[in-house]
Amino acid sequence: MVKGDVEVVIELLKLHKRFRKKAVKFNKRAAEALREAQETCPHEDVEVEYHYNEGGYMDKASTTTLTTCKLCKKDLKTETKTHNYYS
Ligand SMILES: [Zn+2]
Repeated sequence: MVKGDVEVVIELLKLHKRFRKKAVKFNKRAAEALREAQETCPHEDVEVEYHYNEGGYMDKASTTTLTTCKLCKKDLKTETKTHNYYS
């Protein structure tokens, strides 16, 4: 590519704009498909993750429980339980 060729730059920018438009459309379709999958999914197989937060001088320790569907990856439930102690 020759540096300083404005025509080439304009062509490339046109291409950029066109693909950006397509990307927006495809992102929308991807999001719609995922949403539909998550609405249809029976969420039969779940994964439970525990995140322990040890707290500090002012914060009590807590545990956050995340329940996620293994198949469609939807977050089904987030629960934070605060413990009765400071670290
Ligand atoms: Zn699911």
